[in-house]
Amino acid sequence: MKIHEYQAKDLFAAYGIPVKSYILCRTPDEVVSAYSQLNVNKVVLKAQVLTGGRGKAGGIKLADNPQEVQTRSEAILNLKIKDIPVDRIIVTEAVDIKKEYYLSIVVDRNTKSALLMLSSDGGIDIEEVAHSTPERIHKFQIDPMLGTPDFFTRKVAFTLFSDIKLVNQLSHIIKSLYMLFIETDASLAEINPLVLTDDDKLIAVDAKMTFDDNALFRQPKIAELFEPTEEEKKERDAKSKGFSYVHLGGEIGCMVNGAGLAMATMDLIKRYRGNPANFLDIGGSSNSEKVVQALKLLLKDDDVKVVLINIFGGITRCDDVANGILQAFEQIETDIPVVVRLTGTNEEAGRALLRDSKLYVANTMSEATRLAVNISLKTY
Ligand code: GDP
Ligand code: MN
Repeated sequence: MKIHEYQAKDLFAAYGIPVKSYILCRTPDEVVSAYSQLNVNKVVLKAQVLTGGRGKAGGIKLADNPQEVQTRSEAILNLKIKDIPVDRIIVTEAVDIKKEYYLSIVVDRNTKSALLMLSSDGGIDIEEVAHSTPERIHKFQIDPMLGTPDFFTRKVAFTLFSDIKLVNQLSHIIKSLYMLFIETDASLAEINPLVLTDDDKLIAVDAKMTFDDNALFRQPKIAELFEPTEEEKKERDAKSKGFSYVHLGGEIGCMVNGAGLAMATMDLIKRYRGNPANFLDIGGSSNSEKVVQALKLLLKDDDVKVVLINIFGGITRCDDVANGILQAFEQIETDIPVVVRLTGTNEEAGRALLRDSKLYVANTMSEATRLAVNISLKTY
């Protein structure tokens, strides 16, 4: 689960990580009065959206007079950043930047511990740094039994600074960030940039945190901050119907029974150079009610150009499944082509039932997948 920068900054402040105070606004007028309330010359206006790269997209702007504040906040509030409309903006005192650094803590699955990363190439796209100059990112595994004792955080801080005053400041920030990370069950806590100001203070100018969804049950304060995206709403809706659904963004809507078969189906679609719209495991039995629900879910996605139904009839017999599918299509009107592959118990009978319908029936998984991909690419 993601949270906004301003929410992460509240957490930072509570844990003693230096941040500038902010005022949250929803309209340009609110921004203008926030500007006079802050009573500083130069401010930064920052779009609050649950995605990165706001700076590049025009969502971060400096301003130093009321007119600028007005026009620039209007511009930001009219933006869409990676398709997400900006509905909130924070106004905060601008800092004078001497240098930008990068600092983060993530869960490292390989070492089963938290990984601390820092770099003097802050501010810019860290993925780019990791790609082109990986040696400029310093990584330290945090021993879960030891946490962040002084000797460790100082050793780490010396990779960026030699001045002991800055080492001590950074050392304190690392300890606080780690405590916050652990106590909130975070999966990422990132400061990019961590700024060194003209008067030699370290300040978190940006704040990004994500949390482990599986731990939200014991993090009620964090869970309260959840703002589901349209996709997440759909995923939750699917979960409540007993499906396991993940939106993937491609054109082939997939309906599969069993997680393993669903994953194999995604793999095969990719292999034939297509793109799955989703992962959908409709679970063991496949009655018509389930097929109707699943189909409705898939067809809600405007990107879906073809539906691929891949069912293994084990305990449920393929002829029952075929009847379920036919009944489902009596209830649902759609022009979207549908490819069906049934295998397992009574598969011949199942396929025979579908033969006179407008559904495309394939015998094998690769045949079905290739057909679905060709339809999605308009080469069929
Ligand atoms: P992001 O693009 O979504 O990561 O947003 P950031 O909050 O990281 O801001 C992007 C960039 O804007 C930073 O790397 C800085 O260069 C610049 N910026 C942000 N806040 C300030 C500020 O207070 N003063 C100055 N001079 N630049 C800032
Ligand atoms: Mn940033």
